[in-house]
Amino acid sequence: MLITVADLRLDPVEFDEHFSVDAIDYGPDIRQVGVLDAKGRADLIEEHRGHKQVVPDIRMRGDYSARFEMPCARCVEAVEHQLEASFDLLYRPIGVDATGAERAISTSETEIGYYNGDGLVLEDVLREQVLLSLPEKALCRADCKGLCPGCGRNLNTEQCSCASTEADPRWSALSDLRSKIKS
Ligand SMILES: [Zn+2]
Ligand SMILES: [Zn+2]
Repeated sequence: MLITVADLRLDPVEFDEHFSVDAIDYGPDIRQVGVLDAKGRADLIEEHRGHKQVVPDIRMRGDYSARFEMPCARCVEAVEHQLEASFDLLYRPIGVDATGAERAISTSETEIGYYNGDGLVLEDVLREQVLLSLPEKALCRADCKGLCPGCGRNLNTEQCSCASTEADPRWSALSDLRSKIKS
């Protein structure tokens, strides 16, 4: 759903949307389970700078909820995570702050983000919020035994006969993949 500055000049835009599992791409490790519900509104906030310059900022407020699956950081089995969160964000046109002080949006309070072109795509806002709100690493259980560094078997469900003294760097690389993608 594209929310344009032109639309917002006429009226605030209210949204009450339901996104199916493949509507938003969260990257290779995160899967949405079931529908994501998002409800809220967008307002135009005209920021007056000096005599002539008026900056059209977009304020996005809303709530969303959905369930997600992400891989256990040790054994790579899917772990479910329920998210219910709200956001209150301000987006400026990209390039308007020429000082290089553009900051990434975070989930705390109102922070500044930037939009490109005519406006904002709601799906992009939600993707960013979901990725920021999910934990950096998930464990299927606190005492997850992980994968055998020798043969790669899931040690929660299987036993193997590896001597298991030498770690195979491939498996720790796999379980670290998500944190690397995120950073
Ligand atoms: Zn696990
Ligand atoms: Zn093994």
